[in-house]
Amino acid sequence: MIYLDNAASTAVHPEVVKEMIPYFDTQYGNPSSIHQFGRKAKNAIEEARKQVAALIGAEPDEILFTSGGTESNNTILYAHRTRPTLHPQGEVQKNHIITSSIEHDAILQPCKKLTITANNRGGGMPTTKITQLPVDEHGMVNPDDITNFITNTGGQYHGYNTVLVSIMFANNEVGTIQPIKKISEICKENNIAFHTDAVQAVGKVSINVKELGVDFLSISSHKINGPKGVGALFIRKDRMVGQFFNELPYIRGGGQENGLRSGTENVASIVGFGKACEIAKERLSENISHFKKLHSSMLSRVVKEISHVKLNGHPEKRIFNNIHLTFMGVNGEDLIIKLDEHGIAASTGSACSIHTQKASHVLKAMGFNHEQITGSLRMSFGYLNTLDEVDQTIDVLKKVVSELRSVSPYKTKYNF
Ligand code: PLP
Repeated sequence: MIYLDNAASTAVHPEVVKEMIPYFDTQYGNPSSIHQFGRKAKNAIEEARKQVAALIGAEPDEILFTSGGTESNNTILYAHRTRPTLHPQGEVQKNHIITSSIEHDAILQPCKKLTITANNRGGGMPTTKITQLPVDEHGMVNPDDITNFITNTGGQYHGYNTVLVSIMFANNEVGTIQPIKKISEICKENNIAFHTDAVQAVGKVSINVKELGVDFLSISSHKINGPKGVGALFIRKDRMVGQFFNELPYIRGGGQENGLRSGTENVASIVGFGKACEIAKERLSENISHFKKLHSSMLSRVVKEISHVKLNGHPEKRIFNNIHLTFMGVNGEDLIIKLDEHGIAASTGSACSIHTQKASHVLKAMGFNHEQITGSLRMSFGYLNTLDEVDQTIDVLKKVVSELRSVSPYKTKYNF
């Protein structure tokens, strides 16, 4: 088997597994307990917090453990929704959030919900306004659009305050990296909080939250060789006060995670996540150059040996563990099934949107037509993939693309 779906999930690193095991069989104490078992578990969580923080240049007390990227994203969006309690005079402060049209569903779906209901009491409350910025043909946001859309500086939603910009770091389908620093500067100039969903970028590019100036950043463990169901939200220290911070504890109970997220901590997974971050930091440059080698080897062979194929996403400003291609005249899902028959695991894009059975909103936003969207294939590398696997994949790809094209409705159009 050749696994080329590391953007969906990754193998848990053996060193991570080793680190986790004691927290199942011998160190099973509750981190809130006073005895030695409890203290050991608590210390392990704090060690993991340091490891996560170190990977992104944050302070340990700026890391909130969550159940993953989805929860981190939801947390930050819900904290910035329109709420009656936010305004000092008790009136409703109407909030506006800017995001992009190519975000993961873990941003788009909560945003959609916020435009429908302002709170769970319903009944006449104004909702939250959402602006989804367009992208160019490479899937790139234009930072000038953010300035233009900020309502305080003459945008479209009269009476609404832009309180948050949430733009993803690297796209999960096509791999394009957004101009995060530039966006962060615009937000700072306008005194607006900036969140980035960095689930696909962490471990693939060097990230320093201090240099970038972001206020909030989402991370997921299972994309970086850690266990599933755990992740983190970076919250800049100076954002840990004030009205939005007060909105954060939406899971209430025993007051774990500094009161921000109650519930007995998932100790073993947090420990594994911490170790995965430590490994990702140590091997970052090694992994990046490995991904670049695999990427360029695959791309050069594909364009030489297969006709009517196009690389999607930005050619340079991208994560190199992702290669997203359109094979004209081929249905991407048929391609995936054929590749799977040959023991190769790839994807059309987002594993998550398979549940919604809809055409990729990312490719649509990039201006792709129906044929280009359906002919798309994403292959995503992990540290375990080899050049030999890339070669084997190309050999199979050539064969299956040609088989599918021989029965394609576009056969005459392209003269296959
Ligand atoms: N954000 C992006 C960009 C993703 O690619 C994913 C997962 O595919 C998520 C968020 C969701 O992360 P999790 O699976 O940890 O909830």
